[in-house]
Amino acid sequence: MAIQTPFYYYDIELLEATLQSLTDAVPSSNFKVHYAIKANAEDRILKTIRKYGLGADCVSGNEITKALSCGFEANEIVLAGVGKSDAELHTAISNGIHSINCESIEELVVINEIAEQNNRVANISFRINPNVDAKTHHKITTGLSENKFGIPISEVSRAIAEIRKMPFLSLSGIHFHIGSQILSMDPFIKLCNQVNTLLDEIEAEGINLEHINVGGGLGIDYLTPDENPIPDFEKYFAVFHEHLNVRENQTVHFELGRSVVAQCGSLISKVLYVKKGATKNFAIIDAGMTELIRPALYDSYHEIENITADAALGQDNYSVVGPICESSDVFGELEMPITKRGDILQIKSAGAYGQVLSSNYNLRDSALAYYSDENDLKSYIGQTKESALA
Ligand SMILES: *Cc1c(COP(=O)(O)O)cnc(C)c1O
Repeated sequence: MAIQTPFYYYDIELLEATLQSLTDAVPSSNFKVHYAIKANAEDRILKTIRKYGLGADCVSGNEITKALSCGFEANEIVLAGVGKSDAELHTAISNGIHSINCESIEELVVINEIAEQNNRVANISFRINPNVDAKTHHKITTGLSENKFGIPISEVSRAIAEIRKMPFLSLSGIHFHIGSQILSMDPFIKLCNQVNTLLDEIEAEGINLEHINVGGGLGIDYLTPDENPIPDFEKYFAVFHEHLNVRENQTVHFELGRSVVAQCGSLISKVLYVKKGATKNFAIIDAGMTELIRPALYDSYHEIENITADAALGQDNYSVVGPICESSDVFGELEMPITKRGDILQIKSAGAYGQVLSSNYNLRDSALAYYSDENDLKSYIGQTKESALA
């Protein structure tokens, strides 16, 4: 049976090595790591992650349902989101998840009502906007006052006063998430300092929180993925171990997405045409922004390798572009071995915010996923040869 390009290829061995490195790096038994499902929600990926004991971080009702179906326990699931629908809140509350991260006082009122309808007390964390600059791309910054996320620090006292009046809510924690693809530890240190101040203030109100959730955001090496396939989890967790004034009996929760799954995934695509333009060569491939939108959406860099080229032919410069009718449908400009129709390109570091963000724009088919523990990449590529374009 022929395999169609483009397709996603996941290196399950690398995913497992990443998860092993992550779990080995956790410095304290009161640290609990959740996987942010929105980064990649393939069943195979979720079940592998679950084997390593991570909880789940969800941002929709359907993600909660997916997490439960892949073996995550309800009491290890947290829900965030600036606009949770009533139906999503029902899903969260009726399943008794660990915590709903509430992003506004308006939302508290609604959660209280829905909890009452379910005759349950819902555990609430306040998602707080700490106004910390994550120093990342502005479209993936979430912890600045100008962003839509969270309750401003100045409103926390009012939120506490409100929640005290709500019998179906129990305030159990505080939650933060300042952004994504964060490579410097400085923003995380600043976050710790903000959390420490706030913890003192909340304690002064007579409230003892059970958990502090510092969100996710640890970045990966998109520039040289083969040299750094696994992020430095040890350095990351050490920041929180060192800088956060955790009280006895408090747990610290993390919500890592990208750093867990980004490097294990590649988008594999076939070259359809090589066109000599007036100023450059275009390698037109059969994957587009419909399969991987990150370059078009955030100007993201992905390493691209022609894995079937004949190196003896020499090199040339190419603009690697997709077939979609949008000028932003460009994967990158790079020097590659002389490239021709039928060559296979590997677009690397595509395991996070890749397949999950794909669309059927132009009524294109959905790319399928293949896994390294069933066949290696070479063998999958061999099977594409049986398709019309050899
Ligand atoms: C997206 C998201 C995450 C994961 O972010 P990464 O950068 O992929 O680690 C964690 N928490 C929340 C609330 C999110 O929205």
